[in-house]
Amino acid sequence: MNLENSVRSLPHVGKKYQKRLKKLQIETVKDLLYHFPHRYEDFSNVITIKKIKGEGEFCTKGKIKEINTIRTKKKKMYLTEAVLEDDTGSIRATWFNQPYIEKNLEEGNQVFLAGKTNFRGKKLYFSNPSYEKVSPNPTHTGRLVPIYPETEGISSKWLRYIVKKALSSTQIKEFLPQSVLKDNTLLNLSKCLHQIHFPDSKEKLKKAQDRFSFEELFKLSLIVLGRKMSLLRKKSIPIPIKTKKIKKFVENLPFELTQDQKKAAWKTLKDLSSKRPMNRLLEGDVGSGKTVVAVIAALNTAFANLQSAFMAPTEILAQQHFQETSKFLKDYNIKIGLLTGKDEKLFYKKEKNISRADLLKKLKEGKIDILIGTHALITNKVKFKKVGFIILDEQHRFGVEQRAKLCKQKNYVPHLLSMTATPIPRSLALTVYGDLNLSIIKEMPKGRKKIITKIVTSKERKETYNFIRNEAKKGHQTFVICPRIEANDNDKEKKGDWQKVRTVKEEYKKLDKEIFPNLKVGIIHGRKKTKKKEKAMKKFKKGEIDILVATSMIEVGIDVPNATIMAIEGAERFGLSQLHQFRGRVGRSGYQSYCFLFPTSKDIKGKERLELLTKSEDGFELAEKDLELRGPGDLTGLKQWGAPDLKMASLKDKEKIEKARETAKKIIQKDPDLNNYPNLKKEIANYNRKIHLE
Ligand code: ADP
Ligand code: MG
Repeated sequence: MNLENSVRSLPHVGKKYQKRLKKLQIETVKDLLYHFPHRYEDFSNVITIKKIKGEGEFCTKGKIKEINTIRTKKKKMYLTEAVLEDDTGSIRATWFNQPYIEKNLEEGNQVFLAGKTNFRGKKLYFSNPSYEKVSPNPTHTGRLVPIYPETEGISSKWLRYIVKKALSSTQIKEFLPQSVLKDNTLLNLSKCLHQIHFPDSKEKLKKAQDRFSFEELFKLSLIVLGRKMSLLRKKSIPIPIKTKKIKKFVENLPFELTQDQKKAAWKTLKDLSSKRPMNRLLEGDVGSGKTVVAVIAALNTAFANLQSAFMAPTEILAQQHFQETSKFLKDYNIKIGLLTGKDEKLFYKKEKNISRADLLKKLKEGKIDILIGTHALITNKVKFKKVGFIILDEQHRFGVEQRAKLCKQKNYVPHLLSMTATPIPRSLALTVYGDLNLSIIKEMPKGRKKIITKIVTSKERKETYNFIRNEAKKGHQTFVICPRIEANDNDKEKKGDWQKVRTVKEEYKKLDKEIFPNLKVGIIHGRKKTKKKEKAMKKFKKGEIDILVATSMIEVGIDVPNATIMAIEGAERFGLSQLHQFRGRVGRSGYQSYCFLFPTSKDIKGKERLELLTKSEDGFELAEKDLELRGPGDLTGLKQWGAPDLKMASLKDKEKIEKARETAKKIIQKDPDLNNYPNLKKEIANYNRKIHLE
């Protein structure tokens, strides 16, 4: 068997397990073997029974002296009880509702037991321990035991069993070049896969982790550098900078551009004038004014008689961009189209309705200068005459493909500007988006009031609700974010924990019925149909809803100037960047705005983090802190950005990042298509596919 085989080729994996595994994104044997443990239980120290002292976690070895199962009278549960003995003593073990254990373990068997011990009265016993017959190479006990991310019907125990089978029956070919292994003192793939799942020691585990984190960074670097190189070999249409005209446009804006906006606009225009395709990322907090930068570039593109495509992730955002762009360009001889799944409009001096057919015809004839829309822009029917410039708002992850889809001509590649409000720390940006040039808008437009951010204790909750009521009287609106939609939609294990957390559904009911009976409360979450979501959002935008209860899905970039309060339940559960993004949805007008953070518990550590938010307004600073405190997984939007789920790599480890990049550079500069490394080439192609489709 080899790594590319489907999981179905493993013993005991039929349709049912295949489906369950898919939930963990495991489809091939390789996916399975790359499903790494997220932690290990250390049962490598096997002690004699006498040495088990007090409550704690232990692993011991002995002979089953007795084993019995009874049915408890009260709760009708199965209770299996065993006595284990060795030369030094004996200890009891009990299991609930696992009567089959009696079939697996017989009196006289030599077994390992591993797990928690508790006192019952004065007697110590193992409660629900892992058990396994003694063998030289145990799986579930007597070693560093892998604990995996699980899903319904797939336990760590089952995974250990199946991973072991896969490891012993699969031919594991190395794909990293020998020189790379040697230069970086890495162990080979087969060894590392064995050690990451069933480590012989902590040292060997560390070696395996080292390799996989290097591997991730190296693969990523190869992809990113490869893209950069291939783009540098392509041609685009240079768009000359019409300096005078652009200056005039800027002078006539109703506000003065910030220095950062000016710089970003200038760099973008410079890139557009190059005969190589631009690939620029514009990062800036919500409200920092990215749109106008894009509009300047689109205007300059129109001066060259080329078209621009401006794509937003949702219909509401597309409409918002259409309106704003139209406003900016109302004095120009420029035609702006809007095309979404169900809406089409034309702006030329004023807004008009237009039929879809007519809009598409005009587009094809080059009579639309800027087409703004949603994914509808990349459907087959949409054909531009000549698109020179593409703007992607909040959806970089599709950048490469969307550029290809928007421009079907083969002889040139349009310039691309991606925009995002996700602050990505530079170190991370370099690794993950090293193929992009970066512009950052840090400075917020003048006149913005600082958003007052406050951690609200449970005593102050009532007071805060009064405050919200008063704001509503003034016609101002409130967002309430909850971490979960409902209580029962999470891992069973975590349920106890999550039950304390406020959920969108319950909170909506409570706020609507009990707390704010006289206000209009709305609800929005990811499980609602798109139409319903958009309806709720539109109502909120129009001011028909006072309080909107939502999950974290509420859209980035949505402009509701009347919203002045962002209240976040279970705030410590979110990353700082994400909280900062939530906060960015208020304060989009001259009104004083507020962000209220409600922690779930008295968790001190979480509170310290939240305090950073009350002090800092700088999204980048907060993102760096997040990276430091919680690792990259929590950087909101990174996934949406197409950043692969870096399981192993420490993005804080600048030295390692540097080394992986340098190694990748050396290889790809000599051999851009990796023809000398067929295994590596295949691996990179797979990885590339994966990070684009996930
Ligand atoms: P984002 O970066 O979140 O996309 P927008 O481009 O939507 O931000 O800008 C937010 C608002 O700020 C818009 O109404 C825009 O017209 C306005 N704006 C942009 N730049 C400035 C500026 N330099 N001074 C004042 N207002 C500005
Ligand atoms: Mg925006």
